[in-house]
Amino acid sequence: TDPLVMIPGPTPVADPIRQAMATQTYGHTYGGFVKAYKECLAGLKTIFQAEQMIVVGGAGTLSMEMGLINTVRAGEEILVVTHGVFGDRYALVAKALGIKADVLSCPVGERVPLAEIEAKLAAKKYAAITLTHVDTSSGVMAQPKEVGELAKKYDTLFILDGVCASAGIPEPMKDWGIDMIVTTCQKAFGTPPGLTMVAIGAKALARREALGTVPTYYSDWKNWLPIMDNPSTYFATPPVNLILALNESVKIILAEGLENRYARHDRIGRSVRAGLAAIGVKPVTAAAALAPTLTVAYYPAGVDCAAFRAKMEDYGVVVAGALGEIKGKAFRIGHMGNVCITEIVKTLSSVERALNALGVPVQSGAAVGAACAEWDKAA
Ligand code: PMP
Repeated sequence: TDPLVMIPGPTPVADPIRQAMATQTYGHTYGGFVKAYKECLAGLKTIFQAEQMIVVGGAGTLSMEMGLINTVRAGEEILVVTHGVFGDRYALVAKALGIKADVLSCPVGERVPLAEIEAKLAAKKYAAITLTHVDTSSGVMAQPKEVGELAKKYDTLFILDGVCASAGIPEPMKDWGIDMIVTTCQKAFGTPPGLTMVAIGAKALARREALGTVPTYYSDWKNWLPIMDNPSTYFATPPVNLILALNESVKIILAEGLENRYARHDRIGRSVRAGLAAIGVKPVTAAAALAPTLTVAYYPAGVDCAAFRAKMEDYGVVVAGALGEIKGKAFRIGHMGNVCITEIVKTLSSVERALNALGVPVQSGAAVGAACAEWDKAA
């Protein structure tokens, strides 16, 4: 049987999405595909409250770069708020583009206080502020709603990295003052990897206009926006099957309902945490900043990280190692997209077995029982 992939992306792919991947590849200007592309973009605009949506071949990192290169000039300054490796990545993207980044960080697992963000914005005029909604290395969920208010108050462009949050945690751009969401499809959207997705608001579109030309060809929004408005025209060949797959994902999301989907993620996150707590496995992330989409937890003392993950794989479950300064000390369980309590039960029972096999005695069934009890509370 296939392994259960419980890493923080890619996530398990539901049957209708997999079947779309296996469709005969249509020509990219063929009517059936154009209809699906349009449907998919319209659905995404609804999910994000976006003015415009760009979906092209690439990865999350390209969406970060595409977001910045279309709105900020080389030589301008931005504020990068970081809660880990992926927040730090935004400073690296800026540097590669010749954009200056002031970086605001904090100890691993903690959240940068809003007062510190406000102090920075008050002290200097930034072209943009970047924030990672959920940093996949630390499991920290940021405060985009509050940061949106600050961005508005200090009149700076607010760019949110939604990669580990989009479609699993609310990101209403208009309600929260988010000018752009840079994201991708292999996490809470639950499709195979390979898409660059940018949700764009009116202020970001105006910025692109004001810049005139930008130093990129493939990533220039002006080359893509006419295609997004009319997908029967051509700029560069889109990944046809992936877009068909994303369209299935969007249909699943809208059929579930945004509120239901976000509530399910919240409930899964709480269940995983209750399960781990029952066997003494502690999260890296501060209680106030725990994300619904993944859990980053310390190995109990004496557990070898490679041996633990190898045991988990023997039981058919793949979890991820940690990144950055907690590498080797913690592991990560992704719990987003189209997974539910059944997958959590299998994952936690494998965690119990792996720990027992590695000489850390835990009561069999304790984590599973606590997770199910937490899940059933909300039933
Ligand atoms: N931002 C965050 C928060 C991420 O978790 C990741 C990937 N793990 C990225 C950006 C980069 O995405 P990709 O690997 O698709 O380039």
